[in-house]
Amino acid sequence: MLNQTVLALGKKRSTIREIFEFGNQRAKIVGRENIFDFSIGNPNVPAPESVQDAIRDIITTKHPSAIHGYTSAQGTEDCRAAIAESLNARFGTDYSAKNLYMTLGAAASISICFTALTAAPQDEFIVFAPFFPEYQVFIEHGAGAKCVIIPAQVEDFQINFAEFEKKLNPHTKGIIINSPNNPSGVVYSDETINRLTALLSAKSEEYGHPIYLISDEPYREIIYDGITAPFIAPSYKNTLVCYSYSKSLSLPGERIGYVLVPNTVDNFEDVYAAVCGAGRVLGYVCAPSLFQQVITRCAADVADISIYEKNRNILFEGLTSMGYSCVKPEGAFYLFPKTLEEDDFAFCERAKKYDLLLVPGSDFGAPGHFRISYCVQTETVQRALPLFEKLAKEYGL
Ligand code: PLP
Repeated sequence: MLNQTVLALGKKRSTIREIFEFGNQRAKIVGRENIFDFSIGNPNVPAPESVQDAIRDIITTKHPSAIHGYTSAQGTEDCRAAIAESLNARFGTDYSAKNLYMTLGAAASISICFTALTAAPQDEFIVFAPFFPEYQVFIEHGAGAKCVIIPAQVEDFQINFAEFEKKLNPHTKGIIINSPNNPSGVVYSDETINRLTALLSAKSEEYGHPIYLISDEPYREIIYDGITAPFIAPSYKNTLVCYSYSKSLSLPGERIGYVLVPNTVDNFEDVYAAVCGAGRVLGYVCAPSLFQQVITRCAADVADISIYEKNRNILFEGLTSMGYSCVKPEGAFYLFPKTLEEDDFAFCERAKKYDLLLVPGSDFGAPGHFRISYCVQTETVQRALPLFEKLAKEYGL
């Protein structure tokens, strides 16, 4: 007899992966260039030159055992210190190596945090729709806690405070936010952040224990219209930051990121030790050695992400002028318009007729929407517009 829960999870591929595989099959028939795969968030811009240079330099000048060997479980002191320094330079903080735990991307960071913070099965974590679907898997099946979903505020995809306040209770252990957001592309406003942190502080006081704020920030650097990088940790003392270089350095396959536990977190030393312990339980120890060395040199760098803003502008203006309705994203590389029929699965199925591969909003807890992942060539975006138009015409727009 196997673990039935994980067996079921393993048998059911995520919708995004399903669509991605469908695209691969269709590509064999109609050619890759005729597939408009907006399903997966796989950055298409190259990693910066500095990353390529660092890799070349490390592999040609260091002894193999110094490149590929185990590091300490939480990552090398050099790598963690370099990240702390780059954060301090940008955000005026005073982090050091001891605040960081290196992981295998944001997914590992998030599951480590949920596992570290869960003390009992009654513990609850709040997520705000629309949300990255793996949160629910990590909370329920990884940490063994309860996942409480707050419905989306569809007018602007900021936090639905009316519903949020109803769900806060003494079992609330933490919340997770993701800004810039996947799938809406929305960046939380200062007003949202201020209201959120004030509410969490008041409720922590009332319940007599901290409510942790897990800030999932893989898109922190991918922001448009000249707005500043959102960094919430200094505004709320019990924040744990989950970061990844998958998007900012275009390194999703290399699996490198971190958990940041600031000194301000209550019982900092225990929380950091619990993060290390969760890393051990989950097997996320000594993150890839070569890429820790790359990050040591490139912690402050960002890939040339200008193409994403260009794609956003073309798609947002194109689709809204055709009659699609969409909240304007200010970051990440996703657009999350309303579907043209109530059933978002049926809508995305119909789009497949034009080889437009879109993801139903239900997957992110926000039915009636669809996600376009536009980290693709600008030419693909341009060639897709007439197809979106044909699709809209089917609905009489
Ligand atoms: N969190 C969000 C919001 C994401 O969109 C993703 C990936 O797309 C992740 C976490 C996981 O990122 P990583 O590839 O670093 O594990």
